[in-house]
Amino acid sequence: MKVTGQCHCGNIRYEAEVDAATVRVCHCSDCQRLTGSAFRTNVATLPGTFRLLSGTPKVYLKTAESGNKRAHGFCPDCGTPLYATSPDPNPASYGLRVGGLDQRAELPPPARQIWCRSALPWAMDITRIARIETQ
Ligand SMILES: [Zn+2]
Ligand SMILES: [Zn+2]
Repeated sequence: MKVTGQCHCGNIRYEAEVDAATVRVCHCSDCQRLTGSAFRTNVATLPGTFRLLSGTPKVYLKTAESGNKRAHGFCPDCGTPLYATSPDPNPASYGLRVGGLDQRAELPPPARQIWCRSALPWAMDITRIARIETQ
């Protein structure tokens, strides 16, 4: 599926082909910290399809518990998280942050949730929390 995305301030714009079956939620503590939220939602691009249309992301190199390094791209102006990928020069695939995609509501629901051992206890089921259409 073809997707387009941008950061909040519009400095960074990008496009890619994603595998819609790879939408997933990550409850790891790194994603909590890096998003400032309870969990992150990602989708994987098809190899070689990610293309920047404008702007230059700033890259934060994160070292995982396993020792793997991931390059996290974000907007240097507004801070929007954009993607994570291999730090190699020609990365095969990008994990796009679903919230930045223009088609985020058209993607299917996540197929799985990972790192549930570090999920915030309430985040595994928000169906009972009061629902209000606006703030
Ligand atoms: Zn921005
Ligand atoms: Zn995570």
